[in-house]
Amino acid sequence: MSIHHVIDPATEEQIAEVELADVAATDAAIARAAAAQPGWAGTAPADRARLLRRFAALVDRDLEELARLEVSNSGHTITNARGEAGNVRDVLDYYAGAPERHIGSQIPVAGGLNVTFHEPLGVVGIIVPWNFPMPIAAWGFAPALAAGNTVVLKPAELTPLTAVRLGRLALESGIPEGVFTVLPGKGSVVGERFVTHPAVRKVVFTGSTQVGQRIMAGCADQVKRLTLELGGKSANIVFADADLELAASQAPGGVFDNSGQDCCARSRILVERSVLDRFVELFAPAVESVAVGDPQREDTVMGPLISAAHRERVSSFISAETEVIARGAAPEGPGFWFPPTAVVPAGPSDPLLREEIFGPVVAVVPFDSEEEAVRLANDTEFGLSGSIWTRDVGRALRVSRGVEAGNLSVNSHASVRYSTPFGGFKASGLGRELGPDALDSFTELKNVFIADS
Ligand code: NAD
Repeated sequence: MSIHHVIDPATEEQIAEVELADVAATDAAIARAAAAQPGWAGTAPADRARLLRRFAALVDRDLEELARLEVSNSGHTITNARGEAGNVRDVLDYYAGAPERHIGSQIPVAGGLNVTFHEPLGVVGIIVPWNFPMPIAAWGFAPALAAGNTVVLKPAELTPLTAVRLGRLALESGIPEGVFTVLPGKGSVVGERFVTHPAVRKVVFTGSTQVGQRIMAGCADQVKRLTLELGGKSANIVFADADLELAASQAPGGVFDNSGQDCCARSRILVERSVLDRFVELFAPAVESVAVGDPQREDTVMGPLISAAHRERVSSFISAETEVIARGAAPEGPGFWFPPTAVVPAGPSDPLLREEIFGPVVAVVPFDSEEEAVRLANDTEFGLSGSIWTRDVGRALRVSRGVEAGNLSVNSHASVRYSTPFGGFKASGLGRELGPDALDSFTELKNVFIADS
């Protein structure tokens, strides 16, 4: 086993050492999960529900501790981290209602009775990125467990601490050993093994499009079920008839939240040309006043980036020639800081407009008509989320239908609710998570006909 040194991105100090699982340890964990699965699926629905509710209650009990752990491991602001731990609790509570309600159907046929069953898949492997370690883990494990699967979960190398803690809370809640196992490890070792091991019947992957494509190809070998939540380059479209003050004051939150390390970040702002100057006049001070600093402080709005390497990558998008229209503050000294930055891209092929930067950098672009706004919004390989700011209900509806993305908000930047479906079009992913139908992607639909004679 090798060791990973966990670093606090706000101080660059080492805060923990975590053992990384090798292939043998991964195989052993998958074998335990496979052995535990029939018992878990056979647990009475009400008892499975009760255990998930107990798990949720323990997350709630330790919410502050989980949040503090996330602040020091991931650099998330304390207010965001509390929301993330609360989201794990809520997702568990929401899907705790599912085991007793995941009903099949009885279909009228001649000569007998026809019924359908939702059968669990078996072992589900969940691979989590570093940007939202707690919620993204829960969006996979809560519905997977509710449906009667057992779960092996690999957190990202950089951010294993809260996942490990959640694994312990699951055991404390009474969920049997082997039902939910957290395996810190490398993507190329533990993650790859989830793809190649035949006992893992489904892979849930959230991360980069590049790795997602590789996992999809690997899963094809075994016709393995797969959900992909990948990158984004979402548009925030501001029409001239919008409440401009509100749109401009909310726009920084739509892209700089979590330091821009958010697959739903609205990293392109498309503004109707007739109000561009006024929008920039309102938006620039909003960018400059984002409170960047110690994520432990209650009033901090933006913390550091996750690592030195990631800051290097984000910095590479900005050169001396880049036209910067607003730049906020960033602390000096240790920590992987990068200031919130708004830019004008050099042209349609500028990487600032095309690539997912995954940092606090936003490109502002004018448009002249509703048709052009939709065309520009769709001029990307991605299709995850986006916002539309307008007071015209008809336009809100037309543009929402025209933009090729899985999650849109009108006069809001809210993208994700545990009770509504989430996922991407095009290169942003495959399948949906959350919402009332999540269990369908963690089960196989079985049809049974019983002859009446
Ligand atoms: P990444 O693809 O490098 O890693 C994601 C996870 O995959 C990590 O746990 C990593 O260890 C693992 N992994 C790496 N190589 C692997 C392999 N060969 N086989 C199996 N697993 C492997 O992504 P990242 O840098 O951790 O996360 C940032 C990316 O995630 C961004 O592109 C972002 O848009 C995306 N993201 C998408 C969503 C969404 O819901 N669509 C949510 C969060 C993040």
